[in-house]
Amino acid sequence: MINRRLFVKLSGTIGAVSIIGANAYCFSSKNVGQYSKIKLTTEFPNGGGEVLLKKMDPITIQVVPHNQNDGGWSKIWWHFQVEGISPNENIILNIEKGSGFAEQVFYSYDDENWALTNSGNIIDIDGIEYVQIHHVMRGEKISFAYDLPYRMKELESKLLPQLQGVPRVKVVDYCKSSHGRVVKAIQLKNTGKKSDRKYGIWLQARAHSFEAGSSWVLHELTKWLISNDLLALQLREIADITILPIVDVDAVEEGRTGKNQKPYDHNRGWSEAKSHWPEVNVTKSKLNKMSSKEMLDMFIDFHGPGNKSHPYFIIAVDKNLKTDIQRTNRQKFFDVLGARSFDENTSKTQSMHQFFYSKREWKSQNHDSSNMWVGQNTTNNVINLTLEVNMGTPLSTLDGYQVEAITLGKAISKYFSQGFHLK
Ligand SMILES: [Zn+2]
Repeated sequence: MINRRLFVKLSGTIGAVSIIGANAYCFSSKNVGQYSKIKLTTEFPNGGGEVLLKKMDPITIQVVPHNQNDGGWSKIWWHFQVEGISPNENIILNIEKGSGFAEQVFYSYDDENWALTNSGNIIDIDGIEYVQIHHVMRGEKISFAYDLPYRMKELESKLLPQLQGVPRVKVVDYCKSSHGRVVKAIQLKNTGKKSDRKYGIWLQARAHSFEAGSSWVLHELTKWLISNDLLALQLREIADITILPIVDVDAVEEGRTGKNQKPYDHNRGWSEAKSHWPEVNVTKSKLNKMSSKEMLDMFIDFHGPGNKSHPYFIIAVDKNLKTDIQRTNRQKFFDVLGARSFDENTSKTQSMHQFFYSKREWKSQNHDSSNMWVGQNTTNNVINLTLEVNMGTPLSTLDGYQVEAITLGKAISKYFSQGFHLK
């Protein structure tokens, strides 16, 4: 089961701890002055990781990301809140440096508006590397997170209300997760005449829960799709679009990393006749249905955190695609988007608008993913893509995610509405 305990230890002159709740500790010694009320917690939706108060002067908090399985890419996510620190006080975060570490992390004083901290330095404590970040407190309460959080709260308060009353748009309860939560899907039905309905597009994010940026890009793309931008209107006339902003809602709300969870995560085991995950079973049956009507033309599974340079697609080498039409369509779409293959120089630069791709030879035992399954088991013309959105760079803010989303949306529209797609 998930380890959600908080680890708070005392050091120096502070000598007493009292337990506030099952998962929160705070200092209550009479002699600790302004520090007596410091409280660290991960006990809220999306809160996760282990947080340890190491030192009081200066206030030093050690952060160990949630370990989903065996470290590496399964030990990334953390998100916690601190109360009881005085304004102007300096806080030091020592964040255990894992595989997907970020030099800047996000903070918020109201759990609503988020900003990036200063860049941290890499330090070594007892042979373990940490990213050390200094932050001057400017509020009563502060949240820190590995990335800009995207939880059910953001979906329900920032996206779903915008869809209300929009013609041909429906929000549906998609399925129940393993832990009983409702997974939401958004359906955009084509707005043209019935005979204009030519294409089916599937967009989903957060098979890996720590990849919050992937939901933000899809969130911004959804907003753009229902906008009055001419290209958005043109695409919506001819296409049915299904959107799943949060696939693994359990791991997101429970503050877990999600990736590599047992028996396999939401982006693995797709070739199993019946997946361990209800979300994947429902998705496969819907994709099969669309495919039987020749109405699955594009599938994008949004992931992150990219490679700290540009957004890029992880795709099969040409020979791993099923048909020539798939190969031709994919290349045409990349031409429209201006997507390129990485070279030595481009991997050293950063942007939110220049897309790249990385071709991989797929081996069924370690790439049993949504992307591969769609390419092999659905239509002969489908473009099947995994997108690594560009997380963990100074540009990876809400504005940056919006730029990435709109760049992608415009290319999808041009590709379909200007007749590049072969069926
Ligand atoms: Zn991923």
